[in-house]
Amino acid sequence: MSKIFISVDMEGCSGIVSRQETMPAGAFYEEARQWMLWDTNAAVEGCLNGGATEVVVCDFHTRMNIPWDEIHPRAKLVRSDSIGGRILYLLEGLDDTFDAVFFVGQHTAYGDPKGIISHSFTRPFRHVHFNGQRVGEIEIWTALAGHFGVPVGLVTGDDVTCQQAKGWLPQLDTAVVKYAIDTYAARCLPKDQTHRRICEAACQATKAVSQLKPFCFSAPVEVKIDLVMPNAAGRICLMPGVERTDGTQILFTAESFWDAYKMFVASAWLAMSANDPLPC
Ligand SMILES: [Zn+2]
Repeated sequence: MSKIFISVDMEGCSGIVSRQETMPAGAFYEEARQWMLWDTNAAVEGCLNGGATEVVVCDFHTRMNIPWDEIHPRAKLVRSDSIGGRILYLLEGLDDTFDAVFFVGQHTAYGDPKGIISHSFTRPFRHVHFNGQRVGEIEIWTALAGHFGVPVGLVTGDDVTCQQAKGWLPQLDTAVVKYAIDTYAARCLPKDQTHRRICEAACQATKAVSQLKPFCFSAPVEVKIDLVMPNAAGRICLMPGVERTDGTQILFTAESFWDAYKMFVASAWLAMSANDPLPC
């Protein structure tokens, strides 16, 4: 008897190596969203094999990607458009009734020398630190799940992503679907093999949910963000309590992770509104 929340991102899904596949305007996006669906359905199948009684999938990468009418028949699908102002992103729909969060299709943090399409939340952000620890999306979403008291049990993606995630949180099961060669190059396993790996890892992780522990940053929470462009830092430091520590770096401290997370999201929105052409 367990209730699993599957959070799906796109960059770490089987076969995907390029922004032409991950951006809705990209030349190969339509094929890639099908690959994202297949990885998701393999994870749902694994959860059910492991004894899950309810599986909810959150589809969020840029916006919605998974065709609603092709999701696994026993999964519910959270579809959410960020334009509406919701702030949980890849965890939209999560609450404290879930036993675990599983991440499908995750990726490494900005600046990783090898991980496929490495980035940290939004392209105007470079390095992000919470309480002095350099974090990528896996760490941020894991702490956000922890805010709801829900632990994380599975990461699927490239080998670098899985290795780093497990090194940080040994409780994780992982499924490697491709081996990173460079940011936009990977040795991709065939789909039958990746789906089997994802299904088996999700099954294993579901069986082990009772042993998982939620992750939380200790309060107060200090957030440091390095930005690509100085004008983005200029906008973020308009918020009370935000210090601009140099031309492209901002720093703030919040009483709780939840307050820090809300300021982090607001910082991203302000950075994205600094409409300067980005150099990358
Ligand atoms: Zn993404």
